[in-house]
Amino acid sequence: MKLNKIDHIGIAVTDLEAAKKLYEAMGFRYTGRETVEDQKVETAFFEIGESKIELLAATDPSSPIAKFIEKNGNKGGIAHIAINVTDIEEKLKDLQSKGFQLIDETPKTGAHGAKIAFVHPKSTSGVLLELCEKL
Ligand code: ZN
Repeated sequence: MKLNKIDHIGIAVTDLEAAKKLYEAMGFRYTGRETVEDQKVETAFFEIGESKIELLAATDPSSPIAKFIEKNGNKGGIAHIAINVTDIEEKLKDLQSKGFQLIDETPKTGAHGAKIAFVHPKSTSGVLLELCEKL
């Protein structure tokens, strides 16, 4: 249940195609798009060293990203920071036993088939943390 590294930073965007062009123009290396049904988002990934940037656009008004954008004054912004972990189930139990508020008590399926779970910003000084375990 080790915390290994920052896997990616999730950035909410209102227009995925426009944002993708911006990040490519800045020089980030685009590695692909993926729709994640579970989270109702379409993602575009960019690699930067060992970490990644994940642009997220809502595919449905009930998507957490649609809610984030609405709360953020109808603008995009940093939505979450994702930490690569080993044994996500154990880490979730560990955090829960320490009183952290979990959004997902059991992992869901994220982009690239990873197991993911979110920790509530109330427990983490205001930052939505994603734990992700690559299979
Ligand atoms: Zn993410």
